[in-house]
This record gives sequence, C-alpha cells and structure tokens, in this order.
Amino acid sequence: MIVYLNGEFMPIEEAKISVLDRGFIYGDGVYELIPVYSRKSFRLPQHLMRLQHSLDGIRLANPHTEAQWTSIIGEIIARQPYEDQGVYFQVTRGVAKRDHTFPKDVPATVFMMSNPLATPSAEQVERGVAVVTAEDNRWRRCDLKTISLVGNVLMRQLAADAGSVETVMFRDGYLTEASASNVLIVKNGAIIAPPKDELILPGITYGATWEFAREAGMPFEMRPVPREEALAADEMWLTSSTKEVLAITTLDGRPFAGGKPGPFFRKMHAVFQQHKPK
Ligand code: PMP
Repeated sequence: MIVYLNGEFMPIEEAKISVLDRGFIYGDGVYELIPVYSRKSFRLPQHLMRLQHSLDGIRLANPHTEAQWTSIIGEIIARQPYEDQGVYFQVTRGVAKRDHTFPKDVPATVFMMSNPLATPSAEQVERGVAVVTAEDNRWRRCDLKTISLVGNVLMRQLAADAGSVETVMFRDGYLTEASASNVLIVKNGAIIAPPKDELILPGITYGATWEFAREAGMPFEMRPVPREEALAADEMWLTSSTKEVLAITTLDGRPFAGGKPGPFFRKMHAVFQQHKPK
C-alpha cells in the first residue's frame, strides 16, 4: 500500500515517525475518514469542514488549504488498486520533547492511507445488526474527531465482547451516539436524532441522511432523545461512513423494533444507495 507522510508518497513499510510524535505520546491530533466509491470521494467538502472544526477545537493550525487536501486525497486514491476506498488521515501536533504545553514552531505530522472500503454485508442490511447499550463516560468534546480514542475503543470492545457490532450510549438519560457511529431513531413517522452539540460527533453520514430525508419528504427532527423514547422507538439506525445506514434489530441481547429492519430504514437505505457516486 502506498501511503502519504509529510509531503511524500511511499510504501507503508517505509513510513516512519518519531516516538516523540505528540500523536503517539498524547493522542494529540485529529483525523478524518472519507468514503470513496468508484474512486470518487463522497462528501469531501463536508469532511474538510469538519477537519477544520476539529483542528480549531484543539487549537492546531491547518497545515494545508482545501485545494491541497483535495489534491493529496486525489493522489492517494489514484495510487491504490481498488475502486471503493476509505481514505484515513490524521494530523498531529508534531514531534517535540515531551511536555504537555504546545511546542513552538513545530510542523504538524500529516499521515494518510487508503484501505479498501468495507461496506456492510447484504446480510447486515437485510437482517439488521445487534448492539449493546452503556452509559457514555467519554469527555465532553465528542464533537471533535480526535485520535485520542481510548474511550471509544473501550465502548466498542463491550459490543465485541457481546458479539454485537456497536455500543449505543446514553448520557444523563439521553441518547448520544455509538462508539463509531451516530444513532437515529424513528417514532410515529419521523426520524429523530440527537442535536449536533458537543456530546456527539457531527457525522457526515448523519448529515447526509438529514439531507436525503428532506429530499424524500421524510420528517426529520433534531432534538434530545430521552432513553425511554429511544428504547421504545419504532426503528433505530446506525450511520457512519463505513456502515452507511444500518438498522438495529437486537439490543442488549433481545429483539428490538420487531427484530427486523423497518420501512423507514428500507426507504432511507434505497435513497442512500442512489446518492452514492457511481
Ligand atoms: N460518531 C463517532 C464517535 C464516530 O467515530 C463516527 C465515525 N467516524 C461517527 C459518529 C459517524 O461519522 P461519519 O458519518 O462522519 O463517519
């Protein structure tokens, strides 16, 4: 695999960074993952806007202009043999003597790679997926896509330990999100999703479903979702750049929402497929 590191393309085996990189020492950096269909990136401007939001949130200057990012991403896509890809990149606060305070005049580290895009299986789409639930114990800036992911890693492992795909979290009695996905519900004919505040990542796929719902005339509300409402929902979905939209049909080991994907999910899934670059 050809990857990008600080201005150069190289085989992944040759990509090396210092053990003093603040990404390694502190998890001091941010990242993005952009889905690519048929070598065309999906919603790139939205991902680059979110990157800027994350960089602003950790007070790190953006090392590249939007045009530069677009060109590097275009080149990494062109250098892979596969058509559908997941472009992953991270920006860290660079290499410096270990000290919590921001280092002065240190260039950011920029690393990018692109793996084959692992979209959901036909079975996951048809039958839905299993989740577990847990109390959200992460920090309060979940709107920033930081590489410090140990909170999310621990959450995901709860799901893996239970043979499930995700952990759906609640904070103070309200739905937040899952370890690497947003969570939306359907109740009485409306799609309802938690507001894009500091407690959830503003998912690009969540944003896409909002847009597609408007186009398709499906009501969509963004508002706090109490736990009881979520657990009594007609449907519950996961959205993410790699999961697209998936229906939750098992929750904490019990059938959920009738145990099969509902009609709103089917419609949104179809609309989503139509919007993917061909
Ligand atoms: N929430 C979290 C915590 C995530 O890690 C992700 C995946 N990056 C999402 C939501 C979904 O975001 P997106 O639709 O941009 O992939």
